[in-house]
Amino acid sequence: MGSLSYQNGHIHHNKAYTGNFLIEDPDQVLDTMGISPPPQYLEKMREAHNLYPMRTTKHFLALAERRLDDPIMLQVLPNPEELKEYPHLIDDPLGEENHSPVPKLIHRYPDRAVLLVTSRCLTRCRHCNRKRLWREKEWIITKQELREVEEYLRKTPQIREVILSGGDPLTLPPSWLEEIMGRVSYIPSIKVLRLGARLPVVAPQLVTEEMATVVEKFRPLWINLQFNHPREITEESRRACSLLQKAGAILGNQTVLLKGINDSSQCIKELCYLLIEMGVRPYYLFQCDLVKGVEHFITPVSTGIEIIRSMIGYVSGIAIPTFAIDSPKGKGKIPILPNYNLQFEKEGVKYQNYKGEWCLYPEALTPS
Ligand code: SF4
Repeated sequence: MGSLSYQNGHIHHNKAYTGNFLIEDPDQVLDTMGISPPPQYLEKMREAHNLYPMRTTKHFLALAERRLDDPIMLQVLPNPEELKEYPHLIDDPLGEENHSPVPKLIHRYPDRAVLLVTSRCLTRCRHCNRKRLWREKEWIITKQELREVEEYLRKTPQIREVILSGGDPLTLPPSWLEEIMGRVSYIPSIKVLRLGARLPVVAPQLVTEEMATVVEKFRPLWINLQFNHPREITEESRRACSLLQKAGAILGNQTVLLKGINDSSQCIKELCYLLIEMGVRPYYLFQCDLVKGVEHFITPVSTGIEIIRSMIGYVSGIAIPTFAIDSPKGKGKIPILPNYNLQFEKEGVKYQNYKGEWCLYPEALTPS
């Protein structure tokens, strides 16, 4: 499959790797799919590509249907809509750069921190909240940066969990991933390692025995994936998930709610049912972040609430993700629940159940 090399913190992958497995040219996508948009569209699409360079895998593109508004195509193909400017959309919507005490570490919540180990992803999701990183030369955390991170973690023992992110940590050669996780987990106050990855979705063939061997060394390793549409669950991704699970990984899924891709109850229900069938817990359904160039994906908050309302009570609890907004400016994730009209009355707590029937839970009554 070709090779990957690493020099001075930057990544180089040879042409064979790119040519055989990755697609980085939007015109090639259109040719492969036999789609011919009007010249004006093409011009804007190329402009969007120059601003946010595209990349996907042959595996992921093979899941797409031959139309521009296909849910897979929308996630990978640069779109003229990305060029529009909106005052409320910014490059770093979660204020990550303001919560970074040392390079590559984001410390926002008291007991956990995010470690950015690489900017590399094999599919660049057009809705990504870190798409600002695509404009830089691809990088992997350097040894010096890792030393500074270790130092910060040692002097901040309230951090007990580190979440490896990026980019996609699983794109690192397994031995490099092992070294990073080994050094972090060696710090006595770090009790839990978590990792966010999309590799098992977009390139499940690259989830190898060698990777599983590394995962096994850090069990239980919590891995959150990002399946956004039922069509992304394939035989290959099932195999990849199963390999990671056998190695002791606890798999969850974080779906981003995206207009035109998965913004219906039917789609999210089907996705969540498939996830639990393969033992992957639907963890979050995220409202799309307010990142520059994603306005066309943003749904009204009410859409997410109604999707969750259509699931609570009707769908197995383990298949229901928490709908959440990751608040602008890094103010944190907040779960958003449908309103069940909770009322605290003298006789107890009143609320409506999932069918809209009023219920009373007697509370604080004086014993007779
Ligand atoms: S896999 Fe995650 S980090 Fe990579 S492009 Fe997609 S959303 Fe962004």
